[in-house]
Amino acid sequence: MHPSQRQELVVLVFVSVLAGLMGLILGYPFLALFLVLLVYQFKTHRNLFTLYSWLKERKKEDLPEITGIWGELFNEIYQIDKETRQNRARLTNMLVRFQEAAQALPDGMVILNKKNYIEWANLAAQNLLGLNNEEDVGQPVLNLIRQPEFRRYLSQTDQSVPITITSGANGDYELSLLLIPYGSSQKLLICRDITHISKLEDMRQEFIANVSHELRSPLTVLSGYLEMLQEEAVNGELSEKALLNMSHQTVRMQNLVKDLLMLSKLETEPHLVSNENVDMQAVIENVVKDYTYDKSATEHSITLDVQADLKLKGEAREIYSLVSNLVSNALRYTPEGGDIAISWKLEHQQGVLSVKDNGPGIAQHHIPRLTERFYRVEKDRSRESGGTGLGLSIVKHILDRYHGQLQVVSRLGEGSNFICRFPVNYTR
Ligand code: ADP
Repeated sequence: MHPSQRQELVVLVFVSVLAGLMGLILGYPFLALFLVLLVYQFKTHRNLFTLYSWLKERKKEDLPEITGIWGELFNEIYQIDKETRQNRARLTNMLVRFQEAAQALPDGMVILNKKNYIEWANLAAQNLLGLNNEEDVGQPVLNLIRQPEFRRYLSQTDQSVPITITSGANGDYELSLLLIPYGSSQKLLICRDITHISKLEDMRQEFIANVSHELRSPLTVLSGYLEMLQEEAVNGELSEKALLNMSHQTVRMQNLVKDLLMLSKLETEPHLVSNENVDMQAVIENVVKDYTYDKSATEHSITLDVQADLKLKGEAREIYSLVSNLVSNALRYTPEGGDIAISWKLEHQQGVLSVKDNGPGIAQHHIPRLTERFYRVEKDRSRESGGTGLGLSIVKHILDRYHGQLQVVSRLGEGSNFICRFPVNYTR
């Protein structure tokens, strides 16, 4: 027996015996006993009522001052209540932290119950799938993600392979959806924005198709001539033409491979590694010399306006490639007798290289796309003149390494100006 219970009993028996004895002396033993029990009953009732009112109170910090078994009872309830409140606070805190972590995830997360009704969705899921936590919680997920691919996936037994859908909320999103079962028949729907990856995949496929196409035409020409040369009947004049053409096609392939290697180097190494003092005057002069070297008289009038003491911090080979691509374009697209002006100066705290021609110019709608790989305004003209369609893409990649910018100012029939701006910290 609990000590308090024993003490309570002892007091009750003692008081009852005492009252019985006194009652015997006075001649009313039963009345005395009845009175004792009545008082005891009253006390018990009062404690019971105090307990009831105390339990009904929201805050139970203040314990009523009651001793004995009732005091113990109050204390016991108080301790249980305190523990429950602490546990609840801990659980609430954990839940809040878990929700905060889930909200911070870049991937969408939706909790589905046994019947595939939405129980909760994080912020990313709301954005990616166009859900609204207030309205959509409690709704069947199929009412909100209506794509047939998802309907099929949800009913599949094997859901281990994610599916791809285009978001209904925003047609621009490509989403990968994965269902993960957990707990008692609940599911976690994870959705990831793969728009970027799928665009990259498209670009990769397009790039391979372009490269194959670019290589196929010269190879077809080469193999055609080779077949012809194998036949005995080729006369001198024809074989000369064949060899000339073959050499032309070989140069085209060499240029393509050279540009592809340059692009690949620039893409795998996006940051500038070298910090040479590049003499821009020498670079520009060498480029011009290289292009006019084997021509008896230059077909264009080229003027240079170079600030000789303005150097560039970087890699000479890359800068040569940049200047060379721009000058080559100006020479190839500007008809004979045209003017080409090359300048290098410090303007508004920037090193500015400009290659300007008075050639055919470029229509405005082409300009934003010129730096895309294999983008050409006139395909045949570019190929005939030995272009690979990669020149301006290389220029853009090189400029990115210097945090520089390419500006194309051009009008149809009025010529073009390709301006490269290098931040001042790359100049010397
Ligand atoms: P390509 O090897 O075909 O010249 P680029 O990337 O260097 O490739 O240039 C992309 C396209 O931009 C060219 O095909 C051409 O149509 C256009 N372009 C570039 N430079 C000039 C220019 N100076 N004048 C006219 N068009 C140009």
